[in-house]
Amino acid sequence: MREEEARSELARLRQEIRRHDRLYYVLDAPEISDEEYDGLLRRLEELEGRFPALVTPDSPTQRVAGQPREGFQTVRHSRVLLSLEDAFNLQELAQFHQRVGRVLAGDETEYLVEPKIDGLTVVLRYRDGLFVQGATRGDGTVGEEVTANLRAVRSIPLHLEEAPPFLEVRGEVFLPRADFARLNEERQREGLPRFANPRNAAAGSLRQLDPRVTAGRPLDIFLYEVREGAEPPTQAAALEFLERLGLKVNPLRWPCADLEQVEQVIRDFAPRRDGLPYATDGLVIKVNSLAQQRELGERSRSPRWAIAYKYPAQEATTTVRDIVVQVGRTGALTPTALLDPVRLSGTVVSRATLHNEDQIREKDVRIGDQVVVRKAGEIIPEVVSVVREARTGRERPFVFPDRCPVCGAEVVREPGEAVARCTGVSCPAQLRERLLHFGSRGGMDIDGLGPVVVEALLVADLVHDAGDLYFLTREDLLKLPRKAEKSAANLLASIAASRERPLARLLFALGIRHVGERAATVLAARYRSLDALAVVAAEELRQVPEIGPAIAASVSAFFRQEQTRRMLEKLRRAGVHLAERGEAPPRAGPLQGKQLVLTGTMRELPRAAAEELIARAGGRVTSTVTRRTDYLVVGEDPGSKLARARELAVPQLTQEEFLRLVGKE
Ligand SMILES: [Zn+2]
Repeated sequence: MREEEARSELARLRQEIRRHDRLYYVLDAPEISDEEYDGLLRRLEELEGRFPALVTPDSPTQRVAGQPREGFQTVRHSRVLLSLEDAFNLQELAQFHQRVGRVLAGDETEYLVEPKIDGLTVVLRYRDGLFVQGATRGDGTVGEEVTANLRAVRSIPLHLEEAPPFLEVRGEVFLPRADFARLNEERQREGLPRFANPRNAAAGSLRQLDPRVTAGRPLDIFLYEVREGAEPPTQAAALEFLERLGLKVNPLRWPCADLEQVEQVIRDFAPRRDGLPYATDGLVIKVNSLAQQRELGERSRSPRWAIAYKYPAQEATTTVRDIVVQVGRTGALTPTALLDPVRLSGTVVSRATLHNEDQIREKDVRIGDQVVVRKAGEIIPEVVSVVREARTGRERPFVFPDRCPVCGAEVVREPGEAVARCTGVSCPAQLRERLLHFGSRGGMDIDGLGPVVVEALLVADLVHDAGDLYFLTREDLLKLPRKAEKSAANLLASIAASRERPLARLLFALGIRHVGERAATVLAARYRSLDALAVVAAEELRQVPEIGPAIAASVSAFFRQEQTRRMLEKLRRAGVHLAERGEAPPRAGPLQGKQLVLTGTMRELPRAAAEELIARAGGRVTSTVTRRTDYLVVGEDPGSKLARARELAVPQLTQEEFLRLVGKE
């Protein structure tokens, strides 16, 4: 294919993909299947791979580009980002309305009411239709530059068809509720602290130094303000303008002719909130006319033409009957308050999390206390505070156990960690969670290995680690309570079938602390067998891209344990695949899929040898530095490529770093 042909095909593909992105992520109305979409994207990637010079920064392949960074640059906002004053009841709302009426001296005032999203405020800048910069609100004057991370948010178009030469818009980035719940479950499984609410989760996800982490979190956005580039006459017109440009706007909004109508919206919206896929903490009420907004003006930090109506927090007061400690798969001890049942935003709640020992101490929660509980992020209830006035003196302080409540082994808290863990190598509570994790969907996917069966296996003393699962017999299973012939046969069949799972799944299923699905995939691709991985030192693991020091230390500690060796021996005897099958793909290696550019002379390493090393490590050498370049290897007397790399923020490697990366040192 000639370059001109490629150019027009690329343009056509990008436009097509952009249209489908908009249908899927912005309008929620996809026209093609995921497979068809992937097909388009693969075709684009392939073609761009053949014509790297034709890659454009707004290409759909360029959403997740760039490397982890040291920190964030700051951005000074063109104008202060105002924050809204809150109204906590209808009376405060009425006072706001009166103030507006006084300034506008009897002119008709229309309001526009919009849901208040529980997320993180950001500002996006487009120049000639290209998304060029994104920043957080920060303190309102100076924010953090998070462009690379915002590019990974799929509902933010990288390119707008009919935008003004310069456009600055404001919106709210959020994590949908379902994804918030999933993310927290994942974090708990990996022994990480849970996010308290969707806003923290959104902020934590967006403020990642590595944009690839952000890309893994399904963040979404609603835009709601035009700051530069156009002056629509009303807020309603501004939203329509943003919509027409292809930006994502919340379809919920209510024009109101007077205060009564606003109050009606507040009442009508209250019961709908729980059913929305995103969390809201209230409504925003704005004077619709921009001319009137200007007339009203602003105070130092907040506009006089808008107010946020906050719904009462979803809290309730009840009594702590007891505090129990639950033991997770990684041995993490989580204290939980058992409560007198109480109604909380539509459900009856009888337990609430206390998170960890420090939280109990800080809040001074005692058994018998009256406490305020709240649905944190409206998902799991948590204990917020103690009603001290209600104390009778009979409350008992809770003593955090120094022994595991299940197995009696010592509990330790590593320095700097909030979580205490059971150190028992054969703790039944941990074993139960580990077995469930082993058989879970993302792990070995063993159908029928649910909590009831696992519990029964442990009680019958049939299983001491995951390896034992493969030696269960029909007779063993039939001895379990209520286990029928057919379900026993099904379970044995799905256990047997799980021996064929790919290495990455097995590695994830083993439940090594900090090793999630992504890390398991990376390690499996790199080492290709458990035997190979088992002997790698933590220092070497740390050099593997995407494997941080915590994962490295945890993996190496896991394989050093005698208990692990015994289990692996059982898995081996059972015929579980402990290695990837077939030849290593030729591109597998520490530089798999990476593009490198060489500049300058390397001591003791002829250029051809360097190229050979790169090829063997799975990388590719290209001659020019572009945004797609992953590393510039810098020798002595580097040429103009170094300047170009600096300009594009392409990471550089010294000769020593390069040799270490390809494992030649
Ligand atoms: Zn234990």
